[in-house]
Amino acid sequence: MGTTLLPDGAGKYVLGVDLACPRCQEPLAAPHMLLRCQYHKAQRDQLEAALHSHGLVLNLSNVLDPKGAARGSVFSALAKYLPDCQITEKI
Ligand SMILES: [Zn+2]
Repeated sequence: MGTTLLPDGAGKYVLGVDLACPRCQEPLAAPHMLLRCQYHKAQRDQLEAALHSHGLVLNLSNVLDPKGAARGSVFSALAKYLPDCQITEKI
C-alpha cells in the first residue's frame, strides 16, 4: 500500500518517532490511524459514510485504493480525515 512515516514503515528510520499512538498507546501503524483509533472516530464517520454510500466496508484496501465510482468521494473524505485528525505529518 505504499510507505508512510509511521513506525511500521519508513518512520522506523526516523529518530525520535513515537512508536505508539499518543492518544491510546496502540502501535502507531496505518490500520490504527485510519481504521481503529477511537480518538479519531468522529472524524472517521465521514470517511466511513463515503465508503458505505458505495457499498464498501471500512478497511485499509478500500480506504487507500477504492475502486471505480467510489474513488473520488472516498479520496475526498480521506483528504479531509487526515488534516482533521492532525496526522498529515505522520504519513
Ligand atoms: Zn490511537
